[in-house]
Amino acid sequence: MKLTFLGAAGEVTGSSYLVDTGELKFLLDCGMFQGGREAAAKNRHAFACDPREIAFVLLSHAHIDHSGLIPRLVAQGFRGAVYATRATCELLGVMLPDSGHLQEREAEYDRRGRAPLYTVAEATASLRHLVPVEYGAELRPHASVRCTFRDAGHILGSAIVEVEAGGTKIVFSGDLGQPGHPIVRDPERPAAADVLLVESTYGNRLHKSLTQTLDEFAYALNDTLASKKGNVVIPAFAVGRTQDILYFIAELRRQKRVPAFDVYLDSPMAVAATRITLAHPELQDRESLRMDAWLRGGEGGRVHFTEDVEDSKRINSIRSGAVIISASGMCDGGRIKHHLKSNISRPECAIVFVGFQAAGSLGRRIVDGAKRVNLYREPHRVRAKIFTIGGLSAHADRDALLGWLGGFRAAPRQCWVVHGEPLAAHALRDAIEQRYGWRAAVPAARQTVEI
Ligand SMILES: [Zn+2]
Repeated sequence: MKLTFLGAAGEVTGSSYLVDTGELKFLLDCGMFQGGREAAAKNRHAFACDPREIAFVLLSHAHIDHSGLIPRLVAQGFRGAVYATRATCELLGVMLPDSGHLQEREAEYDRRGRAPLYTVAEATASLRHLVPVEYGAELRPHASVRCTFRDAGHILGSAIVEVEAGGTKIVFSGDLGQPGHPIVRDPERPAAADVLLVESTYGNRLHKSLTQTLDEFAYALNDTLASKKGNVVIPAFAVGRTQDILYFIAELRRQKRVPAFDVYLDSPMAVAATRITLAHPELQDRESLRMDAWLRGGEGGRVHFTEDVEDSKRINSIRSGAVIISASGMCDGGRIKHHLKSNISRPECAIVFVGFQAAGSLGRRIVDGAKRVNLYREPHRVRAKIFTIGGLSAHADRDALLGWLGGFRAAPRQCWVVHGEPLAAHALRDAIEQRYGWRAAVPAARQTVEI
């Protein structure tokens, strides 16, 4: 049996692994490469075989870096099913067409005049291939394959995927959440694997505690809104992170640690994802019900769900007292760029980063201290205060990853450290070898191994 690391090998995007059992081929994830110029080229040549040869896809969760090439796979002839949890399927119903829209927009600006990676119509058509599965239920995508999805505690609907084929049990961690993280439950812990693929986004770092994170967030909000009378702009992934931030704001309001202020949720997808989250109380842990109560009209400040473009433009005229949450999370596209344009050169404002910023993204350049950035091809001075709040991450940190690995009763025959930039991935590999004595390895991009 062969395993090919199509993406998320030595980097955090493009999550996709091709399994060839000899009898059939299938994919674990079908993610888009994001950030930087190389990503565009990699997305155009992402599949190592003819998509018609791929029998099915097992999808860990809805984030575009795990799901974003499904429309392209389908457009290129894939005929099979894409299995994912019910909440993931619902989220993809808004995320993939939105991604198609972004692809069409990018193609308009493409200097070489290339066609979009896929269109809105192709993204919408690909949704017909989605087949919802329940956590914990055994799935038989093929007579020779058994599969179970377990809660990964990363975002709504996220899963760890366990697959048995040809007598080999593969466990794919997907993206693992940090235990104790709000809204989602803690990750489940599989007990056995022959071949393990474990993510390593924060394989070399420890997150601050939730208490410390709330303190930092409270400081950023008070400093900007109460003292300096500016706006707070928060670039955030529409799915997962946005709901986390709403939860934290609700919590700070409940504790009366921040003044009342208006929150603008300016992203149709974030609005849709928030509504899907509210519609799935059975997937949430208990504390998030407080967020639900606040969103449904609790005390202090209002949350404006901004869906149409005119309402979005009106936010640009607000000079102070607003918290604007918008996508994309790494500032490479979407409405966030308008909000950066209106606020980034004003010293009384703040940009609060709450998520991982991949190398090559605009967000990463700002976090790394760029004095000037281009927005819509015009230079803008960075004078707003930049906050990076790491503890909000929806990814497990090094100790949480090691803790999760400790759930395995025996060493997997093979342990592949994926989904991390080289420093993080190698640090986790070393830590695994040290703590558990397992042999672990970081695969190279496009490497094929015998499993
Ligand atoms: Zn993710």
